Amino acid sequence: MPVREKERFLVFGSPYVGEEEIEEVVDSLRSGWLGTGPKVAAFEAGFAAYKEAGFAAAFNSCTAALHLSLVALNLQPGDEVITTPLTFCASVNAIIHAGATPVLADVNPHTMNIDPDRIREKITDRTRAILPVHFAGRSCDMDGLVGLCQEFDLRMVEDCAHAIETRYKGRHAGTFGEFGCFSFYVTKNVVTGEGGMTLCRRQEDIERIKVLGLHGMSADAWKRFTDAGYKHYMVVEAGYKYNMMDLQAAIGIHQLKRVEETLVRRREIWARYDETLSDLPLTLPAPEEPDTVHARHLYTVLVDQEETGVTRDEFLSRMHAQNIGTGVHYLSIPEHPYYRERFGWKLEETPEAVRIGRQTVSLPLSPRLKDSDIDDVIEAVHLCLDQH
Ligand SMILES: *Cc1c(COP(=O)(O)O)cnc(C)c1O
Repeated sequence: MPVREKERFLVFGSPYVGEEEIEEVVDSLRSGWLGTGPKVAAFEAGFAAYKEAGFAAAFNSCTAALHLSLVALNLQPGDEVITTPLTFCASVNAIIHAGATPVLADVNPHTMNIDPDRIREKITDRTRAILPVHFAGRSCDMDGLVGLCQEFDLRMVEDCAHAIETRYKGRHAGTFGEFGCFSFYVTKNVVTGEGGMTLCRRQEDIERIKVLGLHGMSADAWKRFTDAGYKHYMVVEAGYKYNMMDLQAAIGIHQLKRVEETLVRRREIWARYDETLSDLPLTLPAPEEPDTVHARHLYTVLVDQEETGVTRDEFLSRMHAQNIGTGVHYLSIPEHPYYRERFGWKLEETPEAVRIGRQTVSLPLSPRLKDSDIDDVIEAVHLCLDQH
């Protein structure tokens, strides 16, 4: 008998959505204003305030935000951007679509974040930028990364898809680099269905990125000629169609108000897992570093077949048979044939990320989960390892 009945399959990463979100979406529908409008502006302002950031621009995904940020760095063909092999493919694809060449630097095996020492080994005279990912919600070593940027005159775009609540020595993740990019995809800590946000520090960057995100259209370019009546737009570069809708922002506004409260619940679940799984032959997440805030986005355990007698993939199937949904974050980037073929990457070059990618399992961590759901997950993990 599985720990849960079949009808109650526990979906990995299902979001908590409150009545406030539902009413706000209905309000948008009744008002007739569905597209980019006042609610997007309010969500941007709320996000910038929460993150104590200079400027914020909302887009339709984090992938779009990453792409625009890299385009705004004016990268040229042959320019190199160093990123982590333990990330979602979007981080690497954004570099490719911005016309640059991605370069991988391996992760620290304990923090699972990109290692500044490994980055240093990969810096060449073509390196222009680094794109770190605050993995699972744990801040990267920002002193190390900022130091490298200063030493080698590099730009930084932070992939903060896991890092809405993350801080490092009091400062918010996403405010260290030229740009910080966030995701509001359904499994993330704040959701809008699909959605993303870019933070930046300079007025000229926010202006450029907003123009780039909406076809390259600028209303300001026309203002130079006239003040009166209808405002024409002028296309000032070949942009993209990446704007967020009010329908999406309507959800995000209320999700954001609740983000510190849901983090408390995430911490509770995290602590329950730490307590109840520590006797098992699994590697649990490293403790939070001092003077940082961990966003508790993903609780990842490593299943090492030598220790457990079960392969990671067999463990995933057994959890599924117990009606518990799990995730894999991530099979490392060089495992995917496209990148290996195009860039000639070898698995031996980033051994830590490859090993983690083959052993990692993410357990459910949504604030929507009840205590009894968490008990089911814990029981299922024990059963799947034959430890009960
Ligand atoms: C989710 C995620 C993205 C992409 O976010 P979207 O909003 O779905 O485009 C990028 N990077 C990382 C690390 C992610 O987890």
